[in-house]
Parts: sequence; C-alpha cells; structure tokens
Amino acid sequence: MLCYYCENQARATCRFCGAGVCKSHVAAARFASGGASPDPMSGLQRSEFVVVNNAIWCGRCQAQWFVAPQ
Ligand SMILES: [Zn+2]
Ligand SMILES: [Zn+2]
Repeated sequence: MLCYYCENQARATCRFCGAGVCKSHVAAARFASGGASPDPMSGLQRSEFVVVNNAIWCGRCQAQWFVAPQ
C-alpha cells in the first residue's frame, strides 16, 4: 500500500479510516474503543473504554467523538 499523500510505501494505516501513511506523513490522534454494555452479573449498565492517546492517524479523516448513553 502507498501513502495517501505521496508515492512512498505506507508504514502504517490510519486507525480510523484505514488510509496508508508513510513515516513522514503519519499523525497521531486519540482513539477510543469500547462502549456501554450491561454487566452479566448485576444487569447494570457499565462503560468500558480503551483509550489510545497516540494512535496512528492519517491526519485527513475527521474522527468524531460521541458520548455513549449511560
Ligand atoms: Zn484516517
Ligand atoms: Zn507520505
């Protein structure tokens, strides 16, 4: 795969949109994975998120935040 911005070989793929980016065009963004789900034991809603502060980002796509319902 080639870099989205130039003809270099991509060194990473954007965590958000999947675009390839080379070493000189890579960016970083905060990535959160997870969501609210009912706890199987208590039945109560619980929120579990994994947040990565320097996730690979192409710098082109627009990652949007949303708040999961509590
Ligand atoms: Zn992207
Ligand atoms: Zn590039």
